[in-house]
Amino acid sequence: MYYHVNGKLVASEDATVSVRDRGFRYGDGAFETIRAYGGELFAWTAHRQRLTTTCETLGMADAVPDDLGERIDATLEANGLADAYVRVSVTRGVQPGKLTPGHEVDPTVVVVVKELPRSGRDGTSVWEEYATVQSVGTRRIPDDAVPVDAKTHNYLNGILARVELRRAATDSYQPDEALLRDADGYVAEGATSNLFFVEGGTLKTPREGTILPGITRNIVLELAEDETFPVETGRYTLDDVRSADEAFLTNTTWELRPIERIDGIDVGDGPITNLLARLYDGIVERYY
Ligand code: PMP
Repeated sequence: MYYHVNGKLVASEDATVSVRDRGFRYGDGAFETIRAYGGELFAWTAHRQRLTTTCETLGMADAVPDDLGERIDATLEANGLADAYVRVSVTRGVQPGKLTPGHEVDPTVVVVVKELPRSGRDGTSVWEEYATVQSVGTRRIPDDAVPVDAKTHNYLNGILARVELRRAATDSYQPDEALLRDADGYVAEGATSNLFFVEGGTLKTPREGTILPGITRNIVLELAEDETFPVETGRYTLDDVRSADEAFLTNTTWELRPIERIDGIDVGDGPITNLLARLYDGIVERYY
């Protein structure tokens, strides 16, 4: 495999960054996870925008290189990949060892890819397995601590939630995703996903402010706008979600992934989930 590090394609085993890099030292960086379908980046404009916004939040507005798209394309091409998972990291780079960031930024820019074939391209399904979800005690870091719409290298919140999930697992129970509540106890999001559910024919999802507003979530909300069922964003309790008629998670990798069970309670898919999955599939199909 070849990765792209600071402007150069390098063999993956030689792809390294400095131990003095602030991304390593402090989680001082931004990243994006993107999918390529048929050799083309999905929702590239939105991902580039979010990466830029995150870098602005971190006070390094110019860190995203102008030719980032070309660097990603070159990495996909060097590996002969058309359907792939792409991860882009932009850190504040190497700086003298103190917490206060320096004004001069020479960012570390890394592109990592791996093959990710698309399942269900026959249009029957866009996911492989339904998700089992478990709510956890770990709360979502609030916006006034770390801005929630910045996708930074600081993923300890989600990692701690997944550690909790792993501790709850047994031989016969292995939940896939942790569901975090916000500081007030309302449902926020998964460790790496957004949550939707359907109650009485209305599509519901936690409002912005305590979640990373996912790019997949935005696309699903846009798709739902053209349909006849009502859509609501709001504050919901765990009981609201557990008693839902349908529920699914969204993220770039999973697309729409129906939830089989939440906290051991059966939920599953249904007409609205299936309709939205078909519509999303239609967007992806345009890439082939
Ligand atoms: N929330 C969190 C905390 C995430 O890490 C992700 C994955 N990036 C999402 C939501 C979903 O975002 P997207 O649809 O842009 O992948």
